[in-house]
Amino acid sequence: MEERTGRSQSYEVRTFGCQMNVHDSERISGLLEASGYVPHTGEGTPDLVVFNTCAVRENADNKLYGHLGQLAPVKRAHEGMQIAVGGCLAQKDQNTIVEKAPWVDVVFGTHNIGSLPRLLERSRHNREAATELLESLEVFPSTLPTKRENVHSGWVSISVGCNNTCTFCIVPSLRGKEKDRRPGDILAEVQALVDDGAVEVTLLGQNVNSYGVGFGDRQAFSKLLRACGQIEGLERIRFTSPHPAAFTDDVIDAMAETPTVMPVLHMPLQSGSDRVLKAMRRSYRSKRFLGILEKVRNRIPHAAITTDIIVGFPGETEEDFQETLRVVEESRFSSAFTFQYSIRPGTPAGRMQNQVPQEVVQERYERLVALQDRISAQLNAEQVGKRVELLVSAQTGRKAEQTHRLSGRTPDQRLVHFSVPDGALVPRPGDFATVRITDAAPFHLLADSPAEDYAVRRSRAGDAWDRAQADSCGTGAPSGGAPGTTMLGMPALPPRR
Ligand code: SF4
Repeated sequence: MEERTGRSQSYEVRTFGCQMNVHDSERISGLLEASGYVPHTGEGTPDLVVFNTCAVRENADNKLYGHLGQLAPVKRAHEGMQIAVGGCLAQKDQNTIVEKAPWVDVVFGTHNIGSLPRLLERSRHNREAATELLESLEVFPSTLPTKRENVHSGWVSISVGCNNTCTFCIVPSLRGKEKDRRPGDILAEVQALVDDGAVEVTLLGQNVNSYGVGFGDRQAFSKLLRACGQIEGLERIRFTSPHPAAFTDDVIDAMAETPTVMPVLHMPLQSGSDRVLKAMRRSYRSKRFLGILEKVRNRIPHAAITTDIIVGFPGETEEDFQETLRVVEESRFSSAFTFQYSIRPGTPAGRMQNQVPQEVVQERYERLVALQDRISAQLNAEQVGKRVELLVSAQTGRKAEQTHRLSGRTPDQRLVHFSVPDGALVPRPGDFATVRITDAAPFHLLADSPAEDYAVRRSRAGDAWDRAQADSCGTGAPSGGAPGTTMLGMPALPPRR
């Protein structure tokens, strides 16, 4: 996309909300770059700002209009600048957005991300806002070009929407009924990511293990995992999120029998109280939940299990909350995403009369977090002394400047900050580093391994990272390099003192 001056138009995507939105934003970036836009970097004002919104949080709309209000004078001062709003809130508020913020150029829904470049063009040409909100999916999101945040990892949607009706959740009304992608399309996309340098792929859906119900194959998800396991060069397969009600043994078997499916399972509990689960319209009960964990641990003893928990759902009593604490204690989650319940407009729970006072929610939340932190710290402490292989990430820890440590993830997704022994090979993001864990905290592990416990395995993803770095500097780079040579884009690692 070039202005008449010949300068490429720059864009910025601001993402709110869940992983599904992060994934959609990668698609939006890919689409824009395929249309000639370039990412906005550094100072100044981008020519295009895209908001990918979320409707599930209370006040999400106020926050959006606050951001849009701040941009109004910026836009007035920059002729030709465009603002687009997409995502769940756009789908929900529809034309209200242009009524409340008439300086917005494009509003697009969750089902028609693919129309964004065309809508921007239409709005520019007609000099008026272009709005398009489809009620059903026109193009499956994953068939669009993607720009990935990390070259070594990619996300692949296997389904969109959800057939469940959890009373706290707005996804079913915003994303619609579950629509499954054809397995061949999914595998082709996974293969394309691997060909592009990815060594890790996460399969994504609101409820991955009901995948296939739409086309009459209840074991389709386990078959998909096994088929992904056959893809050469794909070293780590993850998925999120399953639902305890529909989690079947064939998925556990596929996980246990496919070496590249990582030993980690995110299993959302939401509440340990059967009474609250019923009010949430979650069809499993705590006994079934614990039974699933037991089966997973019998088949995959080293599996790390993570979860989501909501504290203070309407009507939750202290007794109910004690049940949550009991199940958390028994479940031994390696980590948990804990949420304080807040009203999500448009959901059945938001209309319930028995909302729990905020101070009660806060106090319970603090007790739950303290319990989970204790368990996470204990489980992390058990990792000390183990030798693990990390997939090195491009991001480093907050203290990396002082500690000179790099960061990576274990197969079970634990975050490890590690140091490179003097004189040893520095891995690139996407390479694999084997280290020995030397210390533990609740949220991360440290590995200051001696040289004899440290090894680097260079990977295609590391080569791809080098190429991406070189491309962004406008310099060519070899596809690979002999270990020990200085590569373009090598992470800058200050010398150790
Ligand atoms: S399973 Fe429940 S919480 Fe998850 S997306 Fe569906 S309705 Fe929402």
